[in-house]
Amino acid sequence: MILGIDIDDTLFDTRKYISICWKEYHDKYGITRYTDSIPSTINTGWDDPDITRFWDLYRDKICGIVEAKKDASISLLKLRSNGFGLKIVTARPLYQRYNTLSSLKRNRIIFDDIIMNAKLKGEACKINGVDLLIDDTQLNLDDAESFGVDTLLFKEHDTWNEVYKKILEINKKRRF
Ligand SMILES: [Mg+2]
Repeated sequence: MILGIDIDDTLFDTRKYISICWKEYHDKYGITRYTDSIPSTINTGWDDPDITRFWDLYRDKICGIVEAKKDASISLLKLRSNGFGLKIVTARPLYQRYNTLSSLKRNRIIFDDIIMNAKLKGEACKINGVDLLIDDTQLNLDDAESFGVDTLLFKEHDTWNEVYKKILEINKKRRF
């Protein structure tokens, strides 16, 4: 079974850093349409100039400093030894490739392949043979399902230990 795995707020604890940067951005640029807490559309508002400018300004910084969630690294090792294929599927743009690869390496995240610039993830998953997409953004999961890809939501307070067990359960059910 091939897993598609999101980076931000799935493998990495990105929200913590986005929160700090958004507050700075909000105050510095006088953003009036939003409060100083992270907008709910932060990962989906690609048509919103306030959101896209935020990412243009802070993506490098955020991508460079984020840390993996607890047990993400060991869970991927265990998944691989259980025979799962591991494909990273991220909306991060291609120019962030070097930054992204080095932070994955620094956090000891193993994978077989990385698909970048996947803003809605259904098509990318389908083309790359992903069977199950694990992502914290429901919009991505809905898109994946519309392409016939199974999905698992990584909720804000989920741990990798719990998600690891859920993946094994889903795989067991699929085989029968
Ligand atoms: Mg995400």
